[in-house]
Amino acid sequence: MSLSQSRKLFNDARKLIPSGVNSPVRYYKPYPFFAKKSQKGYILDEDNNRYIDFCNGYGALLLGHARKEIISSVSKQLKSGTLFGTPSEQEIKLSKLIISNFPSINKVRLVNTGSEATMTAIRLARGFTKKNKIIKFEGCYHGAHDSVLVKAGSGSAHHGISISEGGLKEISRNTLVVQYNNFDEYHKVLKKNKEDVAGVIIEPILANMGLILPDKNFLQDIRKTTKENNIPLIFDEIVTGFRVSPGGAQQHFGIEPDITTIGKALGNGFAIAAVGGKKEIMDKLTPAGKVYQASTFAGNPVSVNAAISSITTLNKLKNKLYSRLERYCALLSRALDDIATDMKIPHQINFSASMMQIFFTKTPVTDYKSAKKSDVKKFKKLFFSLLKKGVFVAPSQFEVVFLSDAHTKYDFNNALNAYHYALKMVKN
Ligand code: PMP
Repeated sequence: MSLSQSRKLFNDARKLIPSGVNSPVRYYKPYPFFAKKSQKGYILDEDNNRYIDFCNGYGALLLGHARKEIISSVSKQLKSGTLFGTPSEQEIKLSKLIISNFPSINKVRLVNTGSEATMTAIRLARGFTKKNKIIKFEGCYHGAHDSVLVKAGSGSAHHGISISEGGLKEISRNTLVVQYNNFDEYHKVLKKNKEDVAGVIIEPILANMGLILPDKNFLQDIRKTTKENNIPLIFDEIVTGFRVSPGGAQQHFGIEPDITTIGKALGNGFAIAAVGGKKEIMDKLTPAGKVYQASTFAGNPVSVNAAISSITTLNKLKNKLYSRLERYCALLSRALDDIATDMKIPHQINFSASMMQIFFTKTPVTDYKSAKKSDVKKFKKLFFSLLKKGVFVAPSQFEVVFLSDAHTKYDFNNALNAYHYALKMVKN
């Protein structure tokens, strides 16, 4: 397998771009492969190696690469304008679709990225309650801004950054971190700080520390106690929104948060995210209220059309799509479990909907600390062996395998064979 063109491009890139990448999660040693093209469930690199894409734009491409419905709608829009700087009717259409899929959302503002959405959600919670502190959970990743870059997952866990340099202590001091799935610690922190807590933010399924599922009553307990104390509950559904079900994890668990952030699968590969919630909270946004949020590109017609098309497609296919992906994800996870057990490799596999991850540890992975026990050297071996066999997963133990509607039965079989080989390499 040749990667000579990727190596050459990386050497050029790193002179111009810090570490040669525009997001740290994309970096691995000695250099990442450089993508040339992507189609359906595949990605092609500059040396013409083809990979089954289980990274899936970090979860964004639920409908697969270059999905025809989306490309057709976006192509049409490109000829009619890419940015208006004034509202357009399609923003109403998209808002209606989001609101009808998410009953907890009465009003929604469109933004461009997940980070913008969570930053706005937290500012809204602070503006609404006139309080400062937020509670977040260890290992949850809510974007690259000061309030939430505290014991975060994803790239910051991978690169060992507990609090980012340059982040203001005055801000992170107001972020109270609680262990995921730890009822006692949550209750203790809440009791001590409830007069000062503006909001509780959580990934309802933790998809940034590998995959970690919430204990059965954990989310219900958080909902109950936040309600009792008039504290807005923020579900960060940037990953889970539309992916876990058409109404996200909140539909799956039957819990209504006060504020929701969605992104990734919303635009199926286009830059768009949203923050939505109860009318009385959302109306705090300027100009009606004094919580400021703004963006030049928010609600741009290209991304809006991509999102309309992806929600419409998901809603149309939902009965088949979600159950098929769930079935394949469970089959793949159980098969890997069998293979690793036969090979006597200590491991854990967590899976839900169309997401899964394998951890190399003897103990169940239920939070940041137990995920950190996983042998990351073994994961690295797994990653490179999978790549060699034509399967691209995110290059970190603390990310997730994402399946897409474009993956075929044939892809799943090939991926399983690749995992079989990769686990053999892990064992050796
Ligand atoms: N929240 C969650 C749960 C995420 O997974 C991510 C990105 N991985 C973000 C927020 C930030 O989104 P973005 O990278 O689009 O800023």
